Amino acid sequence: MGVVLQCNNFEVIDLGVMVPAAKILETARAERVDMIGLSGLITPSLEEMAFVAGEMEREGFTIPLLIGGATTSKAHTAVKIAPHYGQPVVHVADASRAVGVASSLTSDGLREQFVADVTAEYQAVREARADRATQAPRQPIAAARANKAKIDYLAHVPPVPTFTGVRTFDDVPLEELVGRIDWTPFFQTWELAGHYPDILKDPVVGEAARSLWADAQAMLDRVVRERWLKARAVVGFWPANSDGAEDIVLFADHARTTPLATVHTLRQQMVKGDGRPNWALADLVAPKATGVADWFGAFAVTTGLGLDERVAAFEADKDDYSSIMIKALADRLAEALAERMHERVRRELWAYAPSETLDNAALINEAYQGIRPAPGYPACPDHTEKGTLFRLLEATERAGITLTESYAMLPASAVSGYYFWRPESQYFGVGKIEKDQVEDYARRKGLEVPVVERWLSPVLGYNR
Ligand code: SAM
Repeated sequence: MGVVLQCNNFEVIDLGVMVPAAKILETARAERVDMIGLSGLITPSLEEMAFVAGEMEREGFTIPLLIGGATTSKAHTAVKIAPHYGQPVVHVADASRAVGVASSLTSDGLREQFVADVTAEYQAVREARADRATQAPRQPIAAARANKAKIDYLAHVPPVPTFTGVRTFDDVPLEELVGRIDWTPFFQTWELAGHYPDILKDPVVGEAARSLWADAQAMLDRVVRERWLKARAVVGFWPANSDGAEDIVLFADHARTTPLATVHTLRQQMVKGDGRPNWALADLVAPKATGVADWFGAFAVTTGLGLDERVAAFEADKDDYSSIMIKALADRLAEALAERMHERVRRELWAYAPSETLDNAALINEAYQGIRPAPGYPACPDHTEKGTLFRLLEATERAGITLTESYAMLPASAVSGYYFWRPESQYFGVGKIEKDQVEDYARRKGLEVPVVERWLSPVLGYNR
């Protein structure tokens, strides 16, 4: 947002990243600013934004609060942030809109109508939200199970991976990753909207994008040549079968007699029309009862080893720009490593698509067989399942990736997930779920229902 506003004659005081609320408000007061902007940049803290809004209310601020950044949304701003502050809180969907929003808010002629419109719109979003969560028709878990994905498990003999258990890929050459980078999210990190490479020619943000791009290439070149970051991956495969419902049981042996771990998945409970199934990821693994010897894979990768030292050095030099740049590049490299390992899994490690040759655009479009869903994402929204994943992969010991108490990965430039090989594999969202499934899930995980409800609160379709 800042870059674009500055180009349009707004004076922007950039406080950098991870700035405490008190400092933001103190600076806003001292500098008599016309508005405050918060961005979900790099380390998004949506709760922190709500906190800043509450502090503005408590301290009697009257200036507008703008919310932007790739991880924010209008719905989130309306539902979670705006209610904390009695003054205008406006979501800025992308950098190109920042100028319009800021101009409207500072114009005597436009401000009143603009604020009235936004307030009414956000109120409507909140009401629609409240209605949708409680009114969208859902069915009992038993009925959803009866409508599980109809997969012919006997149609293919499951491909046998080239190894069982976990393998570490230490110090993957960064050169291998550069060509696998998806650059579009890089520009989103800097709040420049548009697809790479078209964004470089965009009439509005093209100039800012080109300058950022040149800086990124220069730093990436040094990251690779001078080995600023180290890339490490762990990949594992295990004999596995589903229990016919939502659990995937992994076995320690090929005879499938000794259970090793259970991956718990969740099933969609919305009422579906026209023969569409109620998906759970477990549907992608043959049920034990079929007698089919199926397999399950998982991975964790990081390119964040060495990052903290670089960031500290840039920050010591007060070079916030480079500090954000290196973090953004490390994030891109981590995704590229996930992409590269998945490609190797399909072609040589699980080897179910040995002759696949896809260019980077096709990889980004997921034009391959199989998926790599990540816990915390819509098909598997329970972050705590990363605990099982990390134990299985020995991700901390082997790759130096740890989980925080809230199951975030450290270093932050890390990606983890499951591998499913079946041609029927697809991403989906579990959506809102009902208490009957939550109780069943809690029993399967050996946890108290309120504990599970806390972790699953974003997907609960009922009030606790
Ligand atoms: N090219 C992108 C990049 O570089 O940022 C890839 C990352 S993007 C976040 C896509 C990844 O998110 C998928 O590979 C998968 O791990 C995860 N993902 C997306 N949709 C998902 C869903 N519905 N359920 C689970 N995981 C999902």
